[in-house]
Amino acid sequence: MSNPSLLILPGDGIGPEVMAEVRKVIDWFGKNRDLAFDVSEDLVGGSAYDKHGTPLHDDTMAKAQEVDAVLLGAVGGPKYDALDFSVKPERGLLRLRKEMDLFSNLRPAQCFDALADFSSLKKDVVAGLDIMIVRELTSGIYFGEPRGIFKEGNERIGINTQRYTESEIARVARSAFELARKRGNKVCSMEKANVMESGILWREVVTEVHQAEYADVELSHMYADAGAMQLCRWPKQFDVIVTDNLFGDLLSDAAAMLTGSLGMLPSASLGAPMANGRPKALYEPVHGSAPDIAGQGKANPIACVLSFAMALRYSFDQGEEADRLEKAVEKVLADGARTADLLGEDGAKPISTSEMGDAIVAALTASL
Ligand code: NAD
Repeated sequence: MSNPSLLILPGDGIGPEVMAEVRKVIDWFGKNRDLAFDVSEDLVGGSAYDKHGTPLHDDTMAKAQEVDAVLLGAVGGPKYDALDFSVKPERGLLRLRKEMDLFSNLRPAQCFDALADFSSLKKDVVAGLDIMIVRELTSGIYFGEPRGIFKEGNERIGINTQRYTESEIARVARSAFELARKRGNKVCSMEKANVMESGILWREVVTEVHQAEYADVELSHMYADAGAMQLCRWPKQFDVIVTDNLFGDLLSDAAAMLTGSLGMLPSASLGAPMANGRPKALYEPVHGSAPDIAGQGKANPIACVLSFAMALRYSFDQGEEADRLEKAVEKVLADGARTADLLGEDGAKPISTSEMGDAIVAALTASL
C-alpha cells in the first residue's frame, strides 16, 4: 500500500521557519513509528505570487485536491500590502478553502498546565482546559447575497445577508457530533434563535440531526452572547461547541486567548469525505506570517506542530500517535523550554525556533 500523501505549503514570513520544524517531526514518525508520508512541497501566498504572479498556481490547487491532507504555514507580509485585492497572498488561502469546500473549521482551545499563568483568566479556570470550537466556514453572513454598499435616498446603506440552507447546517452539525464521540461526547450549539430566523432554523436542524443520528451524544443549545459569557466564566463546562461562521469567528478567537500565546494555536478545516473515506483537509496554525519576527529564529513552531498532530488524528486515524506528539509538546513545556513569545517575567532565556523543534523531537524519542 502506498504511503499517505501530504502537501506542504510553507508560505511566507515565519511560515517556512515553523514548517522546517514540522518536517523534523514528520521525519521522526517515518523513521520511528513506521508512519511514512509521501510529502510534496509547493508555494502559496506571496512566495507563489513572486514566482507565478498569482498567490496559488492552478497546479498547486490541483495537487491540493488530490492529496490526503494539506499542511500550510502562513501567508502575507508588508511586501504584498499594495497588491491588487485579487492577487493578495490571502486570496491563495481563501481559494484553497473555497475550492476544497472546507465547511467545518476546528479550533481547539487547550491549555497546557505549564502555560496556565499566561492566560488572562485565573489559573484554576483554564488549567487543563480542552475544548473544541467547530465553526461553519463556507456560508453564512460572509457569503450571503445580497451584499454591498448601496445608495438609498440621500445616504448609503451597507448590506450583508445571513443565509443558511438546511444541508449546510446539517453537515457541520454532523462534523461536530462525530468529533464529540471521539472526545467528551458533548455538543453545545450556539446561535441567536431569540432574534434571528437563521438561528431558529439552525437550532431545529441541529436538533433533528441529533435525534436521527446522534442521540447518544449529549446536546445543549445556548444563545451565542450567553455562550461568550460562559466561555469566560467557566470554559471547562464545554466539550465541543458548534456555531455559524460569524459567531464562530468571534467565539473561537475569544476561546483561543484563554490559552495564552498565538504561537500555540493549531486549526483544521475539513470538507466532505473523499473516495478513500478521509475528509478533504487543510491544517494550519491560527497565527499569520509574523513579519515583525520573521527570519530571526524567534517564531514558536508549536502551533504548526500541533496542526500536524490534528492531521494525524483527523486525516490519518492515528489518534495514539497524535497523543504522543501532544504529550511531547507538553513535556517540553513542563521542562521549561520557552520560545520568546512564551516568556514570563522570570528572566528565563528563550530558545530558538529550531531548538524548540529539536526539543520536541527529543521528547518524542524519549517517549518510545
Ligand atoms: P500575526 O499572527 O502574523 O502576528 C501577530 C503577533 O503575534 C505578532 O507580534 C507576531 O510576532 C506574533 N506571533 C504570531 N505567530 C507567532 C509565533 N508562531 N511565534 C511567536 N510569535 C508569533 O498577525 P498580523 O501581524 O496581524 O499579520 C501579519 C501578516 O500575516 C499579515 O500579512 C496578515 O494578513 C497575515 N495573516 C495570515 C494568516 C494566515 O496565513 N492564516 C492569518 C493571520 C494573518
